[in-house]
Amino acid sequence: MSQFKVSEKGFYGKFGGAFIPEMLYPNVEELRIQYLSIIAESSFQEEYLNLLEQYVGRPTPLYFAKRLSEKYNAKIYLKREDLCHTGAHKINNTIGQILLAKRLGKTRIIAETGAGQHGVATATVCALMGLKCIVYMGEIDIERQAPNVARMKMLGAEVRPAISGSKTLKDATNEAIRDWINNPTDTFYIIGSVVGPHPYPDMVAKFQSIISKEIKSQLHTQEGTKFPNYVIACVGGGSNAAGAFYEFLDDEHVGLIAVEAAGHGVDSGESAATSVLGKIGIIHGSKTLLMQTDDGQITEPYSISAGLDYPGVGPLHAHLNDVGRAEFIAITDEDAMKAGLEICNLEGIIPAIETAHAFAVLDKKQFNPTDIVVINLSGRGDKDLNTYINYFNF
Ligand SMILES: *Cc1c(COP(=O)(O)O)cnc(C)c1O
Repeated sequence: MSQFKVSEKGFYGKFGGAFIPEMLYPNVEELRIQYLSIIAESSFQEEYLNLLEQYVGRPTPLYFAKRLSEKYNAKIYLKREDLCHTGAHKINNTIGQILLAKRLGKTRIIAETGAGQHGVATATVCALMGLKCIVYMGEIDIERQAPNVARMKMLGAEVRPAISGSKTLKDATNEAIRDWINNPTDTFYIIGSVVGPHPYPDMVAKFQSIISKEIKSQLHTQEGTKFPNYVIACVGGGSNAAGAFYEFLDDEHVGLIAVEAAGHGVDSGESAATSVLGKIGIIHGSKTLLMQTDDGQITEPYSISAGLDYPGVGPLHAHLNDVGRAEFIAITDEDAMKAGLEICNLEGIIPAIETAHAFAVLDKKQFNPTDIVVINLSGRGDKDLNTYINYFNF
């Protein structure tokens, strides 16, 4: 049994579990008992893989980045999740969860969203399946992320503001959990990253693992080996990284690099580098690394990229960090923005600012010329155009 696969009780080492209010227990338990067998059904796999191909546009290319490779003197491949429908990897997961919801007989979908990307991916699959969709979002985030709010509404979702607390992601999460407690029979809660109570982190990692499955077979065709020397991915909650790492977790000769947002700097007080600043605690029903005050209040994280602006990491990543299986590197706003622009100029690809953090590692770490380095290009930068414009004064 791999130490990187979830245990029977939902743990990765000392992280994970399901620390939930008593009233949520039946909902989570229903899912825990059924998710593995439903996902394993051949009819489920057939429908899931068919939608990934026909609707999402998979497999996404594993693109050899020639000019980038020349500049950094290594063989650099980009896994093009930015080419997925809706512009990022998040849809791999929402497709999987909505199929699961349907098989559990659920007719009403709820989700929470911070920047709005997961809300859009959820609203998209609800439209696809004709299911009712309610997305909880902090009132402040609704103001900050107007285009994504409009997208969700166009896709037929109802966006409900969370008006308590700091009016951001954690308040939206509280509202979604309250909703789920009040609607236990007809409602399915779609979580957007490898976070939340067991079985969510494992379930989301499995749905995203299509990324590393494809990397393996594409690399085999293109390079004659299934194993890169390094896989690099950015980490907010950790779902794109979990997907890109998944098939390589037990292959210790494949280096895994998880890239967090340092914001204005790890020691600046404005950061989201959980592996450095976090302590063990409970967030979103899971025991994991969490940015918190001495008396256990969650600290507001900061990053220029909305998708990395999360005060914790999923329990798998906390464990990978704990045992040293993955190297964690924190990248500042400044280095990320510079790296993002470099990819535009060298490869003609405008990356999401989350992904730009992963690219910034190329400047921090020395690779050998024969090293095969796969960077997971988690999303495209269209959504970030205003941030790029304001930062560089275009
Ligand atoms: C949401 C998002 C992330 C961060 O989420 P993870 O769960 O850590 O993958 C990274 N990149 C993009 C493009 C995103 O939309």
